[in-house]
Amino acid sequence: MFYLYGCSQRVPIYINEIMAKISKAARIEAGNLMEEAAEVFDSCVQCGMCKARCGVFRVLREEQYSPRGHGDLLSAKVQDKIIFECNMCRACSVSCPLNIWVCDGVLKCRQAMVLMGKGLKGNEEMVANIRKTGSPFGKGKIDRDKLYCC
Ligand code: SF4
Ligand code: SF4
Repeated sequence: MFYLYGCSQRVPIYINEIMAKISKAARIEAGNLMEEAAEVFDSCVQCGMCKARCGVFRVLREEQYSPRGHGDLLSAKVQDKIIFECNMCRACSVSCPLNIWVCDGVLKCRQAMVLMGKGLKGNEEMVANIRKTGSPFGKGKIDRDKLYCC
């Protein structure tokens, strides 16, 4: 079982288990995307210098939500909804001495997860609303208590 760097949390989802349930074309594309996501972190030295700038980590204070934690997940080609806990601000890359663009890996992993039907329900609802009505909240109705993340 895979453990995240810096904490004892076990990650329950292995990519092979998910990929067995999807079509061949989606499986190939998702596999390629996960390969590319892992490659983004090939040169990561686990220094953690990216963490201090990450707004998500500064609020949640757990390694798996940090840029380095995301890198650990992606390097191991593990998919988890944690990967959606990133606002794509690129602040972490400013601090990275190796100029690693964490967002690039995060985005590829998200694309792979959506391909395999593992995206966020809220996001799917938002996209469906926009396609149907032009509004993320649905036709003529804005529920300001509802939040969506990217
Ligand atoms: S891009 Fe994501 S991981 Fe990097 S600092 Fe911003 S929220 Fe954190
Ligand atoms: S700063 Fe760069 S090299 Fe260091 S842990 Fe973060 S991503 Fe890896």
